[in-house]
Amino acid sequence: MATIDTLPPLREVIRTHDLQARKSMGQNFLLDLNLTAKIARQAGDLTSCDVLEIGPGPGGLTRGLLSEGARHVLAIEKDARCLPALAEIAAAYPGKVTVLEGDALRIDPLAHLTPPIRVAANLPYNVGTELLVRWLTPQHWPPFWQSLTLMFQREVAERIVAQPGSKAYGRLAILAQWRADARIVLQLPPEAFTPPPKVSSSVVHLAALPEPRYPADAAVLSRVVAAAFNQRRKMLRAALKGIAPDIEDRLLAAGLKPTDRAEQVPLEGFCALARRIAQT
Ligand code: SAM
Repeated sequence: MATIDTLPPLREVIRTHDLQARKSMGQNFLLDLNLTAKIARQAGDLTSCDVLEIGPGPGGLTRGLLSEGARHVLAIEKDARCLPALAEIAAAYPGKVTVLEGDALRIDPLAHLTPPIRVAANLPYNVGTELLVRWLTPQHWPPFWQSLTLMFQREVAERIVAQPGSKAYGRLAILAQWRADARIVLQLPPEAFTPPPKVSSSVVHLAALPEPRYPADAAVLSRVVAAAFNQRRKMLRAALKGIAPDIEDRLLAAGLKPTDRAEQVPLEGFCALARRIAQT
């Protein structure tokens, strides 16, 4: 049986278990264990945490999380071909790894996790964005996770941390920054992956805030931001016309200029406007 010291290099794991990367599964593997340990360190102190890892593949990041001392890793993987490789890691770290086979978009992991919980993943980008949006819009806040450490294509990462006045600033920035501190903590070139993707990637770390950064009703804020950025080139008074009949007055009462465009409005301004709109 493999132990921590005898776990084979990842290239060998891929050969042994015939894990040729599949495009349909969005597979671009990280095979450098120094790099996966570095990513795991960005997730914070794991020693007293359960870590939810989505899409472990052959287990490079899983091994990084364990070498950084994770209390327990719950790994959800859709590709059944990866299960034997993951079972070897579980055997080398007895009692510390649980693997669930299936689609992370359909599995509720909470029954298998004990707080505090951190999330780490190198996922296909479409699945990653969908899960991020779900994790940032739970029914109740604070969420089940303390932090999310996620790989995205650089352009998506920049949208998550974007500030007003930039092209990348939009719904994703507001959603993320309203409820979390979001930072890009690592940049990775395509060659860091096997096979290399067409684009560069970034690791984003989001730390949950105990409560939203500014008061606002989540549904109203979401409606306002969606309308404002759907027509981002228009002035707010035009883009938000359908939201409330007296929108100009409400914009002014929130301290915003009706002639501004969504791109110029800071998160605090959108929250102030959502509060004004929620008032009857
Ligand atoms: N984490 C591994 C690494 O860093 O080398 C693999 C990364 S690869 C980009 C994405 C992984 O997510 C693949 O193993 C793929 O099979 C898995 N995956 C894709 N869609 C998934 C889904 N909906 N649920 C769970 N895993 C998924």
